Amino acid sequence: MANKDQGGMPRRDFLLTAAAGAAALSLGGLGLAKSAQASHIKKPPLPYAENALEPYISARTIKYHYGKHHLGYVKKTNKAIKGTPYEKMDLVQIIRATAGKRDEAHIFNNAAQVWNHTFYWLSMRPGGGGKPMGELAGRINQDFGSYQNFAQALLKTSKGRFGSGWGWLVLMDGKLRVISTPNAETPIAYNVKPLLTLDVWEHAYYLDYQNRRGDYLKNIIKHLINWEFANKNLLE
Ligand code: MN
Repeated sequence: MANKDQGGMPRRDFLLTAAAGAAALSLGGLGLAKSAQASHIKKPPLPYAENALEPYISARTIKYHYGKHHLGYVKKTNKAIKGTPYEKMDLVQIIRATAGKRDEAHIFNNAAQVWNHTFYWLSMRPGGGGKPMGELAGRINQDFGSYQNFAQALLKTSKGRFGSGWGWLVLMDGKLRVISTPNAETPIAYNVKPLLTLDVWEHAYYLDYQNRRGDYLKNIIKHLINWEFANKNLLE
């Protein structure tokens, strides 16, 4: 059974040691919080061409990552929810309803991976990276001390994730934080607001970088982060 804290949310203590109550957060923005239809979990369109992130992420990587891995999670989610009450839920509802439930791990893992990958594609754009603009520029200085501190924390935390998982910039209890999650785990399940994510599963970088996870991450941070998307998520 799931561990539940206030608001019916599964426990998120593993994300951080300090876990105070968080206000309900908006789930808009990705079109993933809309009402559900039968066999409804879809792979959203890639927001740019397969070769748009070159030379930092190759078209070949995107072809497999988006075309095979992401699609695989979509298909497995639809198959797993067929004929269950989850069929009537939207993606975020499915993720929240299955988080922390051992018997539903197969559904959670695939559904969360669908959501995380959609968020990952949007977290990057050609001509992105470098210092943030808008609201986030000030918030990053306020909560991390400087952009350099933030960039270093994002690199270190994401690179240091043991095994497969994700690095995140999140808004948690009113403060920006860098966290990482294992496997399919996602802040969206725990009432923590994600602003951007970096996929650190090997399939995200192995064709281009082999074992050099740090180089892959440095290139995203320097050249690809979509700050407009992160700002939009912050203000939503
Ligand atoms: Mn991936």
